[in-house]
Amino acid sequence: MDNIEKLAMELEKARDAYRANSEKMTVKEAGELGASIKALMDQLSRAIASGAAPCPSCKAAPIGMVQSTTVKRVQMRYFEVGCLGCRDHRTQGMSREEAVSLWNSGKWAS
Ligand SMILES: [Zn+2]
Repeated sequence: MDNIEKLAMELEKARDAYRANSEKMTVKEAGELGASIKALMDQLSRAIASGAAPCPSCKAAPIGMVQSTTVKRVQMRYFEVGCLGCRDHRTQGMSREEAVSLWNSGKWAS
């Protein structure tokens, strides 16, 4: 299992724990779990966007995301690399490498 799969699973587990326990947790516990979810999201984002050049328009580091969609009742996962500041600058690929390579050649998804 690669790093991205591992991070995605940890993130899912942390989010499940948050949902399952949100009413039982103290403010401190909720804050800590929230912070670890945020940290995992940042790590996952950097791992997915690894190798992507800074945004050509605003020079910000792009973020990476795993998205899922349902096509003909089949759950599919794809990767997205995009700039938070420039909403029209984003690419999608079936692998993170594809999304990064499209990003680096400026082939934005419509
Ligand atoms: Zn930008």
